[in-house]
Amino acid sequence: MDQQPCPEPSDTQPIVCARCGRTAEGEGAPATWTYSMEDGSRRYYCDDCARAHIRSIESRLDSNWW
Ligand SMILES: [Zn+2]
Repeated sequence: MDQQPCPEPSDTQPIVCARCGRTAEGEGAPATWTYSMEDGSRRYYCDDCARAHIRSIESRLDSNWW
């Protein structure tokens, strides 16, 4: 039983916007960032991308569709 249903992300891994590639400052995702679950993993989006695509995120469209 080594498989975990929700693997913890590495805390050494910087959070990068899945759309524009911007790197989050500080630890973890800023409160202004959002994320969506895609293919069982989290994808983070910076505030600008989230604001521009909040509808797509909320409707759970795959980011590849953008
Ligand atoms: Zn972005």
